[in-house]
Amino acid sequence: MKIFNTLTRRKEEFVPLEPGKVKMYVCGPTVYNFIHIGNARPMIVFDTVRRYFEYKGYEVNYVSNFTDVDDKIIKKALEEGVDSEVISSRYIEECKKDMEGMNVKPATVHPKATLEIAGMLEMIQVLIDKGHAYAAPDGTVYFRTSSFKDYGKLSHKNLEELQSGFREIKVTGEEGKEDPSDFVLWKPKKEGEPFWESVWCQGRPGWHIECSVMAKKYLGDSIDIHAGGEDLVFPHHENEIAQSEAASGKPFARYWMHNAFLNTEKNGHVQKMSKSLGNFFTVREISERYDLQVLRFFMLSAHYRSPLNFSADLMEASKNSLERILTAADRLRDAKEAAARKRTEAGVTGSGDGMNPKEEAYAQEAKVLVAKYEAAMEDDFNTADGVSVIFELVKLSNTTVSGDSSPSYIAFMEKTLHTLCDVLGIITVRKTEVLEEEIEDLIRQRQEARKMKNFSLADEIRGKLLDMGIVLEDTREGVKWKKA
Ligand code: AMP
Ligand code: ZN
Repeated sequence: MKIFNTLTRRKEEFVPLEPGKVKMYVCGPTVYNFIHIGNARPMIVFDTVRRYFEYKGYEVNYVSNFTDVDDKIIKKALEEGVDSEVISSRYIEECKKDMEGMNVKPATVHPKATLEIAGMLEMIQVLIDKGHAYAAPDGTVYFRTSSFKDYGKLSHKNLEELQSGFREIKVTGEEGKEDPSDFVLWKPKKEGEPFWESVWCQGRPGWHIECSVMAKKYLGDSIDIHAGGEDLVFPHHENEIAQSEAASGKPFARYWMHNAFLNTEKNGHVQKMSKSLGNFFTVREISERYDLQVLRFFMLSAHYRSPLNFSADLMEASKNSLERILTAADRLRDAKEAAARKRTEAGVTGSGDGMNPKEEAYAQEAKVLVAKYEAAMEDDFNTADGVSVIFELVKLSNTTVSGDSSPSYIAFMEKTLHTLCDVLGIITVRKTEVLEEEIEDLIRQRQEARKMKNFSLADEIRGKLLDMGIVLEDTREGVKWKKA
């Protein structure tokens, strides 16, 4: 499997630190508002990377943080007259709802910066003890970039150039810096801000140290993959490398992956979608117009290192493309039912015969497509090509499967389509069908409860269904349900 590594600017063969395991850290959002669809791009892309590793049998330890202490969170808290924690918890919950809608799996761990302060104080002290950091008279602790000889290796920047660049920008409040390119590890609190005790001052951590500490705690000193959007290469990831490697003396991350921006076009100008430019759509807004599966599909129809322009036309095209896949899945289900019905009518029992020679040949074609799909994904996760292969499979399925096909062939095609889509996080069962299954299941549980004379549970289930907008009618033919 080949991964483009920002560190070496080359595609490299993936070799895990531990056989069969992947340790992966993805920088998560700062939670002061609903996430926008630019933020959703790394979530969808790296969830797909994870899914592919899992498909290949790797055990993936996937860590993605929530930055829950930050100027923007504090500002919003002051505006609303509440604690920062109220703001961050609210938007963590909202972010998790969006992730669920986009079928992004929860991380193995979602650490929160504010719960990891002890580890940050510890790492900062280690850096001071090793001469890589120093406390200024006002209590600010800085990382001494000149003490880390590899500084600039990720962003391919030269420290001297950086220093002269920074020298031109004089920042007030940073008089205690030895060098303009040094960066903050710990800073004193300001009036009304959340703070923690430390030997340097009452204060809070800098942003970069959070990720170094959370990666170390949940994955170890050395990890396989560190990922995020390309705006994080400098300074965030460069600084993470400096902190982590200076503290541990070991290489931090083996592969650095960065997704390109999701852009928007306005009056002929292409711009990165961002909160500060005010040119964004939140995932929640998109969910009002589209199933979020469409957004996911849209993101994956481009390679993750290619810039992607968001537009209504492309979303419509994605909606139609996704519909073609879902229709193929519907056809497979219909064929399965028709084949089963025919067998019952003909009095045939058991799971049936295997595939006929023609079907064997088609199945072989499908297997070639699976290999092609894998080759695309193994080439630095080329989901755009992966999607094209899925369409080839859809075509094969549409033209070769019918109610007359053998159950084995239908099941094989259904499983193949489902598996390839699942790697991309595309669900091949329509939402309404999922809902129907859920309703039927609850009704069965209610019947069971009634049989056991557990009427309070039965009522509870009826209430739950009512909350879902479903009304039950007990009729002579059994329980019927309808939408309220
Ligand atoms: P933030 O909350 O700004 O720290 O961003 C969280 C993640 O979203 C980071 O990995 C960013 O690089 C990524 N990100 C932010 N805006 C965009 C965008 N327009 N396109 C792609 N990724 C983005
Ligand atoms: Zn980070």
